[in-house]
Amino acid sequence: MKSNVHVFSNTEFDDKESVLSHIGVRGQQYMEFAALKLPILPEFIIDSEVAASLDSVDLRSTLKKYMKKLEAATGKVFNDQGDPLLVKIVISPNLAIVHYPTLHNYGLTDTTIPGFTRFVGDEFGAHEVLFLIKGNLEIELKIAELEERTKDVATIQKHIDMLTEELEKNLTLAEYNKAIQKHKSLLDEGFFDDSYGQLEIALKRISRLLSLEVMEENDTALIVQPMVYGNYGKDSASGGFFTRNIVTGEKKLEGLFYQNKFNELGSSGKDISQIDRRFLSDLEKTARIVEDHFKEIRSIRFTIEKNKVWLIDQRPVMSKSTQADIKTLLDLNERKVIDEEHMIGAVKPGQLNEILHPIIDLGSVKDLPVIEGGISGAPGAAIGRVYFGTDRLLEAYKSFQQRGEDTRCILCMPATFAEDVKAIEVASGVLSSEGGYAAHASVVARQYGKVSLVKPDLDIRGNRGTIGKTVIKEGDVISLNVPHYGDPMIYLGKAGLIEPDPEESGLIEFIKIVKKHVGSFNVRANADTPRDAALALKFGAEGIGLCRTEHMFFDAKRINVFREMIVSETQGKRVKALAKLKKMQFNDFYGILKVMGGKTVTIRLLDAPLHEFLPHNDTEMKTFIEYLKQQDKNAKISVADIQASCEALREFNPMLGHRGCRIAVSYPEIYHMQIEAIFEAAYKLVSEGIDAKPEIMIPLIMNDAELKLIVYGKKIEGGAYKGIAEVEKDVRERLKVKPMSFKIGTMIELPVAALGAGEIARYAEFFSFGTNDLTQTTIGLSRDDYNSFMPDYTQFDIMDANPFMQLNIHVKELIETAVRRGRMTRPDLHTGLCGEHGAIPENIRFCKDVGLNYVSCSAYSVPIANLAIAQFTMEDNAKAE
Ligand code: PEP
Ligand code: MG
Repeated sequence: MKSNVHVFSNTEFDDKESVLSHIGVRGQQYMEFAALKLPILPEFIIDSEVAASLDSVDLRSTLKKYMKKLEAATGKVFNDQGDPLLVKIVISPNLAIVHYPTLHNYGLTDTTIPGFTRFVGDEFGAHEVLFLIKGNLEIELKIAELEERTKDVATIQKHIDMLTEELEKNLTLAEYNKAIQKHKSLLDEGFFDDSYGQLEIALKRISRLLSLEVMEENDTALIVQPMVYGNYGKDSASGGFFTRNIVTGEKKLEGLFYQNKFNELGSSGKDISQIDRRFLSDLEKTARIVEDHFKEIRSIRFTIEKNKVWLIDQRPVMSKSTQADIKTLLDLNERKVIDEEHMIGAVKPGQLNEILHPIIDLGSVKDLPVIEGGISGAPGAAIGRVYFGTDRLLEAYKSFQQRGEDTRCILCMPATFAEDVKAIEVASGVLSSEGGYAAHASVVARQYGKVSLVKPDLDIRGNRGTIGKTVIKEGDVISLNVPHYGDPMIYLGKAGLIEPDPEESGLIEFIKIVKKHVGSFNVRANADTPRDAALALKFGAEGIGLCRTEHMFFDAKRINVFREMIVSETQGKRVKALAKLKKMQFNDFYGILKVMGGKTVTIRLLDAPLHEFLPHNDTEMKTFIEYLKQQDKNAKISVADIQASCEALREFNPMLGHRGCRIAVSYPEIYHMQIEAIFEAAYKLVSEGIDAKPEIMIPLIMNDAELKLIVYGKKIEGGAYKGIAEVEKDVRERLKVKPMSFKIGTMIELPVAALGAGEIARYAEFFSFGTNDLTQTTIGLSRDDYNSFMPDYTQFDIMDANPFMQLNIHVKELIETAVRRGRMTRPDLHTGLCGEHGAIPENIRFCKDVGLNYVSCSAYSVPIANLAIAQFTMEDNAKAE
């Protein structure tokens, strides 16, 4: 027997494989803690080789011998009448996934009970006797079940049910004693005579149970460990804590302790920082050892009995925040407990959303009515009063500002257009009913770091929105919760918010380390303003991969100038309007290129589906006409004429209509204005010593002839088309400056362009895959309308994922083909992806594998993409080794 019993304590351990393989999972855990010298209670383990065959073994002398170690550590003696040591039995299987209870309080007998209750009180003592009986009856129940003694099963079960109720009630001593008498008859005779006899009976019954279980033979070990009690007098306490703050990650124990209490039930605890200094330093030491060992925040329970601190158990923490995780990892990395690779691998990319956007304080919404479901357009949480249109929202926002009230608003519309961007900019979030992840509302919200939720079942009529039976009226306060993982929620009422702070949360420091592991395939940002560019840079963007120039005209002060340009019926008028736009564009480009000095800025020339910019209602039309009148006080402006011009621009299928580079084929002066603005800004920066790196990108190219015309121009009989190259040359000569290096490339967002990539690459130095349009045109699914019928498609397994989020297999095929064909023509062709897919790790994996050079996504997604890339790069490097 000797070699089958193993002793572990905080001073003694044995981690030989021959031992580890016979002590079960719980035994291995204790062993691990013993090796760490944590203050665990000593124990002895009867290993799995013999645990199921103790029936005929005389255990008493063995128990006596090993009990000595337990007695020495606790200062108590087993079977002692004055201050008896009590023990528990932990059943420790190795492979079997059977759930066994831990059996407490062995050693409580007719002679030792008075000694125990002297410390803990009569009622608690009696309660523990009942608990001891219940544990044993649970073993008896399992044995009776396996021996198919139906009658016994029913009787034991009845007693266990009674015991469960009795243990939960606060009984009087007399009631406890009555209950003990009632149940103890079911146990072996002599069970309460002597501690050793009791423990031997229990071990043998458990051994019998193990022998009856149909499972791996010799799988389970039995562990005997002392019990300690936090209610053992004024020098005792119990408590629990997290190794650091689970919300902020602050390195400070967070928890409560209960002076002279067995556990937290029925008592209010004190903050752990108020515990006696000598215990606090022991607990802190334990916390650091546990945290360093598991490399994460842990929850620890402890008991202090007669001034001695014991670790009772420790476990992972499910509810910790991403900030707490990151702060812990940064600290562990700084102290060289973990390396950078471990740190990067320990955080899921999507988790970062939690520290990039505000989150709902879940404690604040317990009593609010809630509507679940919807499509996540942009993650985060937003609170505000609801307004059903841009003008109403802006009006309300202004008056809240003037009155010094809470200005937070939620824009609620079926769908949004260019005109609504100004409302999205000031709102906290957007609630819409049409479209999905790639819809205008979602794209713009993500860009501005706002929240967007699409609820296809939201019915908007006038100033009311209805979802099922719930009606939301103008001015009602709602809270949107759009988590990265899980179902979105609308709370009807005002929730509490937790705001992100990238410096405070450790995100910026974390990203700096992540970036060291990113490699040559990297992340750029989709950004159209110097503010977004600066944010993207802070989040680790290696450049701007998509600057959507039409977004620059969304501003309320600019949109009418833009409208003036698009409705101009003559080139002369258009050029006049363009001159005004050029000043604005010059400042925009100057600002972005300056912020990004030294890094590439890919400027996409105008791609404005014109319907997005036309006035959508009478008020917009009125302000537009007023604007036109102000421009030329003498001009005769007929409302009917303007309406007719707008009407003439309306198209049956605007997303496939006169947009992208097609506008420039018809009106070259539009791109000319942009090119002039770009190079005037870039050359000015160069003269100021700033390394401006513009790239010019042409949208919606169909074929090489189209691109060749726009880039290199064409002379035809009686006319000429000036290309970008020539416009740049004109600017340079006018400014008398030396040529700067820049690239001209194209978006690939039509299947025909992907297939014709070989020819297109003759005129493009880079490709950027616009997968929003490429998905829409490959599958023939409208990016703005698909979500309304997507549920039917997923219900019948026609589409397994939303193709506007997860790259469709055939869209991937087109990308792969385009890269291959493009590089056959131009081996150094630089390639990237700038559709909304670029923020999603699964798509990023594909982009990296297919040989793209970068992905580009909104500034708020840049940290997520960086982390995903670092993880993929590490994976790839490990495979290559
Ligand atoms: C795209 O189509 O993927 C793209 C980036 O362009 P936009 O979304 O502006 O059409
Ligand atoms: Mg596009």
